[in-house]
Amino acid sequence: MKITELFTKKKPTISFEVFPPNELYSLDEVFGVIDELAKLKPDFVSVTYGAGGSTRSRTVEIASKIKNQNHIEALAHLTCLGATENEIDNIITDLKKNNIENILALRGDYPKDGSPIKHGDFVHASDLVTYLKNKNFAIGGAFYPEGHQDTNDLLDLFNLKIKVDSGANFLISQIFFDNEEFYKFRDKLKKLNINIPLVAGIMPVTNAKQIRKITSLCGCTIPEKLRKILDRYENNPKALKEAGIAYATEQIIDLMTSDIDGIHIYTMNKIEMAKKIMDSITNIRAEFEGEHNGNFGTTK
Ligand code: FAD
Repeated sequence: MKITELFTKKKPTISFEVFPPNELYSLDEVFGVIDELAKLKPDFVSVTYGAGGSTRSRTVEIASKIKNQNHIEALAHLTCLGATENEIDNIITDLKKNNIENILALRGDYPKDGSPIKHGDFVHASDLVTYLKNKNFAIGGAFYPEGHQDTNDLLDLFNLKIKVDSGANFLISQIFFDNEEFYKFRDKLKKLNINIPLVAGIMPVTNAKQIRKITSLCGCTIPEKLRKILDRYENNPKALKEAGIAYATEQIIDLMTSDIDGIHIYTMNKIEMAKKIMDSITNIRAEFEGEHNGNFGTTK
């Protein structure tokens, strides 16, 4: 099923992001993570794609397991920076062979060390969206409630409008820790007549150093309430995990209560964290089963 169809049936959707094997997780471990996450009955699971296509075959393999073995909708991330049309065509063929119907179309990041990227056929994510249009996929794009680091806020909004007009069917956000930033951005998109589903990306904080690094890279603010948690529990991983999960759960409950289209939890392949969050919202989630007013990105 295309995720677009899912959005017409459920609001909010609850989904997870996983990443392919790396130096910390073997393929078997990632498969184990997915089996556990599947028990939490997410509406879909997305799989990241390594910069420059480094995890290409793994992304397809994992998305295929999610779709064909766990019978959950899979969303395959796909970056286009440095890719040729021919390379993208090969991935599309692989995805179709594996019945994957959903792609998160991304530009990808420039290498942090400044090393050159190989010449490709795409410059912006909107180019990939245009290329994927009419190829029978539901197409998602990324958005940045606090702006993207490459561009000033206003330009970023107009560039996002280009991405949506190019054919993006839904948008998933960058992490944020202040829901008000999300709501303010949602209002701006409404004024630009962007009415596709907006999914909030939530990352529970479990490691203070890591989150400080991520937020400095992506420019999202750390509210005072979260800063106090990081400062107080930085050297007590168990306490930090508890507080981080509670903070994310509170964010999710507020978003669900504020007519959000979907919540996407960046699980970082951590099962326990996902379980705890889902356990805390069981009844809240049940409250929304079957309820949908047909509006996207707007308040009731
Ligand atoms: P774009 O939409 O192209 O935007 C990038 C910048 O270019 C913005 O500043 C934008 O304003 C500007 N821009 C866009 N269009 C135009 C235009 N027409 N003219 C001028 N400027 C323009 N990275 C990975 O490598 N793998 C992943 O799996 C991955 N998953 C992600 C999932 C989510 C939900 C998010 C939010 C990000 C993810 N990323 C991933 C990171 C992403 O690749 C980076 O944030 C990247 O810097 C921007 O990607 P984008 O698709 O938003 O690019």
